[in-house]
Amino acid sequence: METAENSILARLKNSGRLPTPKGVALEVINLTQREDASNHDIVRLVSADPALSARVIRAANVLLGNSSRPVVTIADAVTVLGARALRQLVLGIALIADYRHGPCKQFDYQHFWTHSLLTGIAARHLAAHARLAAAEEIFVLGLLGNIGQLALATVYPKEYGALLAHTKGKTLEELHRQEHDKFGCDHAELSEEMLADMHFPKIFQTIVRDFRQPETGKIAEGSREWQLLHLLHLASLIADACLSTQAERGKLVEKIRLQAALVAIEAGDLITIGEACARDWLDWLMLMNMGAVHIPSFAELLDQPDAVETAIEIPQWPYANQDNYKMRVLVVEHDRSMLVLLQSMLAAAGHNVLTARDGVEAMRLAEQHHPQLVISDCLTPQMDGVTLCRKLRESYDHRNMYVIILTAQQGVDRLVESFEAGADDCMVKPLAQKIFFARLRTAQRVVRLQEELAFDRDQMLRFSKELAASNERLQRLALTDALTELPNRRFAMERIEQEWALSKRGDRTLSCMMVDIDHFKSINDRFGHQTGDDALKAVALALRQSARTQDVVCRYGGEEFLIICPDADIDAAYQGAERLRLNVAALIFKFQGSDLKLTISIGVAEKKEDTASIDDLLSHADDCLYSAKESGRNKTVAKK
Ligand code: GH3
Ligand code: MG
Ligand code: MG
Repeated sequence: METAENSILARLKNSGRLPTPKGVALEVINLTQREDASNHDIVRLVSADPALSARVIRAANVLLGNSSRPVVTIADAVTVLGARALRQLVLGIALIADYRHGPCKQFDYQHFWTHSLLTGIAARHLAAHARLAAAEEIFVLGLLGNIGQLALATVYPKEYGALLAHTKGKTLEELHRQEHDKFGCDHAELSEEMLADMHFPKIFQTIVRDFRQPETGKIAEGSREWQLLHLLHLASLIADACLSTQAERGKLVEKIRLQAALVAIEAGDLITIGEACARDWLDWLMLMNMGAVHIPSFAELLDQPDAVETAIEIPQWPYANQDNYKMRVLVVEHDRSMLVLLQSMLAAAGHNVLTARDGVEAMRLAEQHHPQLVISDCLTPQMDGVTLCRKLRESYDHRNMYVIILTAQQGVDRLVESFEAGADDCMVKPLAQKIFFARLRTAQRVVRLQEELAFDRDQMLRFSKELAASNERLQRLALTDALTELPNRRFAMERIEQEWALSKRGDRTLSCMMVDIDHFKSINDRFGHQTGDDALKAVALALRQSARTQDVVCRYGGEEFLIICPDADIDAAYQGAERLRLNVAALIFKFQGSDLKLTISIGVAEKKEDTASIDDLLSHADDCLYSAKESGRNKTVAKK
């Protein structure tokens, strides 16, 4: 915007047609610029205009509600309202009185003031409900919030009239853009300048500039100013809805619900506030001598269920930041407006949203759908949010769910209780969207980490199962001889150690046999290696079948076998060996039509008191085997 003398405001002022307070009101403004001005001076000035004073006194009474001590003089008004609020009230009233009609044909002055007054009334009640100080000043802020538009229409009746006709039905952005093109600034900026010129506090100037499009404002979220800005926006939406046609109302009501939820005003409270507004409205109509305009009752206004159930127009949430990781979110909230707000914010961030209106329904949905994130109001019907959280935590399936509890400002005591019940996070209403989305991202990070951990754990479990199975297979392979499928030498050595230890501990007998096939080389030589292999397998099988079940038959070397015989003394072992020898000798292999016979020699040894080690025992058996070979083969020799 331009500044100083050539600013739009300066030009408007020079035109002499700018809506400005005149007479007493102007003097009131000038007075406040003087540092030595006292309340007494203001009282004296305002009182000098009886018509104005009467209005100001009545206005003060309406603003202050059913106070037990009504304001009867301007002196009372200044005491109760304070000098600043009184001054602003004087301005507002003077402006309405002087600019009720104007030269611009396309500009509906009556509608303008009706809308401004409704905005002011609603803003005042909303601010009082939210316990924000200076509710009276907020009234004037609503009243003068669009003063820039009145100014443009009044100073440039023709040009602005044409512009209005041209932008009818278009968006506010479009109107602002065209105002900029034509006049060098839009009416919101002009309102800001005019309020500055009338010495309104800086923060009020900023709020007035942004309140019709609060999302473009730069005020820090969650601050008192931010709340004021959003309350004033809500008030202006309420005024829109009151003056809209039935057809336009559905969408507006939906916006009102969202906006109310944003500043933590529940639908029920909104109706109470609306009733208070309707009462004030009649008082103001009389006070300002304005033509009666019927406004619908709030209960009637907000009773637009279809508008909410059908297409929810998702507002822009600049901090929503979609991420491709979508969560299943369960929102538990009894207030429909708050529910719609949360739903719309979560949907804007790309999540899948389930909703429940009470704790019992929430529990059922949690069981059924396993949401990853639960956002619950703490005062939900049937089962409150803290109990819901505790119940969820009790169940194994839900112990990983991320739970956020929402609480109203006056319920912050429940924070500690919520954390004790196992909540991961708590948020205080009103929800500042920047903070909400930041915390939503934290929830998302934790949920995602947990999912990844669970996935890793499942993978590890699967791997370790597979590993165990393959280890078992490998171990079996490592201890088995591939050709004969008998336990191999490694197994034989491990096993004989176990049997050695057992026999020592239990004073039990232990014997072993060393078996060697006779003249096996000649089989290979005569019939080939393959036949040799087949013969080896046949002998192995015969040995296994002829041995006792508790005997362990192993392949010890090329065509040598070791048979471990637990609980067998030398005689039993010898008899067993003879049985083996005879069975093998009785075998007949068929090879290329001719019969083939094999014999074995066996050396048997028993573990005795003087047998020092396993090696000793085996070498005794070996010695006997050697003797068997020496004495002509197909023999069993036992060490007596
Ligand atoms: P003896 O024991 O009666 O003195 O005579 P032998 O011919 O059996 O003696 P030796 O120990 O000299 O020969 C063993 C032969 O067994 C040598 C080798 O070719 C054969 N042999 C060892 N392992 C295998 C095998 O896995 N398959 C086949 N086909 N032959 C084998
Ligand atoms: Mg041999
Ligand atoms: Mg041999």
